[in-house]
Parts: sequence; structure tokens; C-alpha cells
Amino acid sequence: MTEPAPPVPGRQTVSIIGGGIAGLALAARLDPARFDVTVNEQRAGLPAVGTSLAVWPAAQRALGRLGILDAVREASPVIEGMSVRAASGKPWTAAQASGLIGVSRIDLIRLLDAAVPVSVGRASGRIDVVRPGPAGLVVGADGVHSSVRRSCWGARSGARPTPYLAVRGVVPGRLWRGHTGEYWGRGQLFGVGPAADGTNWYAAFRSGAGPGSLDVAAVLAETRARYAGYPPAILEVLAAAAPQTSLVQRVWTTPPLGSYVRRRVTLVGDAAHAMTPNLGRGACEALVDAVTLAEFLNTRSVDEALAAYNRARHLRTQALRAASSAVMRLALAERGQPARDALLGIIGRRCRSGPGSA
Ligand SMILES: Cc1cc2nc3c(=O)[nH]c(=O)nc-3n(C[C@H](O)[C@H](O)[C@H](O)COP(=O)(O)OP(=O)(O)OC[C@H]3O[C@@H](n4cnc5c(N)ncnc54)[C@H](O)[C@@H]3O)c2cc1C
Repeated sequence: MTEPAPPVPGRQTVSIIGGGIAGLALAARLDPARFDVTVNEQRAGLPAVGTSLAVWPAAQRALGRLGILDAVREASPVIEGMSVRAASGKPWTAAQASGLIGVSRIDLIRLLDAAVPVSVGRASGRIDVVRPGPAGLVVGADGVHSSVRRSCWGARSGARPTPYLAVRGVVPGRLWRGHTGEYWGRGQLFGVGPAADGTNWYAAFRSGAGPGSLDVAAVLAETRARYAGYPPAILEVLAAAAPQTSLVQRVWTTPPLGSYVRRRVTLVGDAAHAMTPNLGRGACEALVDAVTLAEFLNTRSVDEALAAYNRARHLRTQALRAASSAVMRLALAERGQPARDALLGIIGRRCRSGPGSA
């Protein structure tokens, strides 16, 4: 990474902390004729494991505004035929999710990075403290554990752990065929779907492991044991899973924030609204945040743009954050699991027999 270029007098400086999905999308869409932009990223190179992210239509439109939608589509399988099932494999409902694609996080970061103009400065290393000031704009795109949020919104805005671990990976082969969707058991779920070069899978369950770094091989062994009674298709996926192509992490969320703007500091993506992964919306909303903010900044004064961005994105993303947590509680129900299964069974039967049936 190169050092940031000195600012050009008269132009606004924008310092983006975090060069992940939100940060790169913002840098790619800001008008280089108007802004001196620097992206500060702590990670060297691309992520090591490229699990799939579901990309919903609104996020695809944002990728279109960035000029990379065709390239993302080319690299990403369409996700279709999704259903939510009981742990036994019995389908409850077919999820209505037309137009969904599954992009590898590595491909997405690579394509976003290539869309960033060469005029954007790149600074490597971690930024720990940011102070709101009158000069320049600071954008926290630094994820769920955002230093920008903690520096400017206070210690109480720090990320909160859920009791759940997420384990996920990509295995070779089209093991997803006929099985795409989620399997909800008692206090645990398993998901499977297509990846560009195989099958994407994920599991979530309650675990007290951590708080230090987690041993991927040990968690994978625990995952195989936990899902031993699941349908053969799931067992086949888990048998093919390897530590070097799997990721293990605790699921964290951010507490509600009253606003994403403090003076000349603003937040985008997970730094603003990290949500549980149950709706598959975090990265999608990060893309929409970034493109919305950039387009307001390109066409209005900075203060007007920040106010418009907050109006456009705050309530919607906070509602999605709350909705994701609600779906997590339903999908990972423990004591309420028999009642949930009975209810979903009834809903599934009604959906299959069509409107008006008893
Ligand atoms: C199990 C799981 C499955 C998911 N599935 C989906 C899905 O299917 N679809 C979907 O839309 N979303 C999904 N998500 C959510 C998605 O991963 C996040 O919402 C998305 O990565 C947020 O992007 P971001 O750019 O805001 O943050 P991040 O991706 O976290 O990027 C932040 C960047 O900032 C850098 N950084 C952090 N701190 C600093 C610092 N202090 N200084 C400098 N750099 C810093 C990091 O290195 C990183 O590159 C999933 C999440 C999980 C956990």
C-alpha cells in the first residue's frame, strides 16, 4: 500500500477507516474531482477464506452504481430453490428470494478494490482513536468492533457478543443440489447453498468457547458431532469440510445508535449497524450505505450530505438489525423449539395447499 497523497488545497479530505466492503465501496464511488480520499486498512491483502455472501437486489443495484455488477454476477452463482426445513430435512417453507446471488467475499473485495480510483490514497495499519473535528470528514467503515464508533460515540457503543458461534466454509462439489436453504434444529441451524467453486455451508450454535482465538479444527469436530443426526446431505458437506477452508467466529452485534453522524464523523456498514447474519443482509446494507453516502457527498455540501445520509439509512438499517436478531431467536430457539416447529409445520402446509384452504 502507498502513503496517502498530500491534500489539494480547496478540496475536502475524506479519511475512510477500514478498507472492507463498505470502505472500498465508498472510496470507489466518491468523486475524485471533489474529494481527497484516503483508505486506512489494517489487513494486508485479501481475506484468507472466501465464504459466500448472499447479495440481495438492492445491493446488486449498488454494485451497478459502482460499475462492477456484471463482473460480480459473472463470478457468483444464482441462489434458487431455497427452503427452511426442520432438522430432519422436512421442508417447512420455500423462502421467497428471487434474484439472489452468492458472491465469494474474496471476489467481492477484489472487485471493489479494483474499482477504487488510483487517486485514492492507501494507508496500511490500524487506527485506534479518532476525534471528531471541524476539518475533513472521517468515515468509520471499520466493522463491528469499530474504533471510530467507540472513540466518537463512547464506550457504551462497543460491540456486544451473542451466545452463538458461526462456523462456515466452502467445500468442493455441488453438494447443495436439492438441499439449498436452512435446517433449524434445537438451538442450532445449518445452511447450505451454491458457491462459485463448490458448496457454501454455515452452522450456528450456542457456545461458551473463547474469548481468545478459536481452534478451527476443534470447532469443526464439535460441529460434526452436533449435527450427526442431520440428513445425509449435511453429513456429506461436513465430512468434506477442512480447517483451512473454514472460518469460526463469535457472532457480535452493535447496540442501537440514535444517529450515524457526529459532527464531521459518520459510520457505514457494520460499524453503524452490525446485525446477526440470519437475514444475510449485513454486507448488502454496507454496500447500500456506502453508495448512498457517496452520492449525497458528490452532489451536496458535506453537512447536508451527512444529514441526508442519516435520514436515508438510519431507521431502515436499525430495523433490519432488530429483525435479524428476532430471526436469530426463532432459528436458534431452544425451549420454544417444539412450539416453533409445530407452528412452522402448519404455515408450511397452508402455503403448500394454497390460499383459501382450511
Ligand atoms: C457468519 C456470517 C455470515 C454472513 N453472511 C452474510 C450474507 O450472506 N450476506 C450479507 O450481506 N452479509 C453477511 N454477513 C455480514 C457481513 O459479513 C458484514 O455485514 C460485512 O462484512 C460488513 O462489511 P463492512 O465493510 O462494514 O465491515 P468489515 O467487513 O468488517 O470490514 C471492516 C474492515 O475494516 C478493517 N478495520 C477494522 N478496524 C480497523 C481499524 N481500527 N483501523 C483500520 N482498519 C480497520 C478490517 O480489517 C476490515 O477490512 C455475514 C456475517 C457473518 C458473521
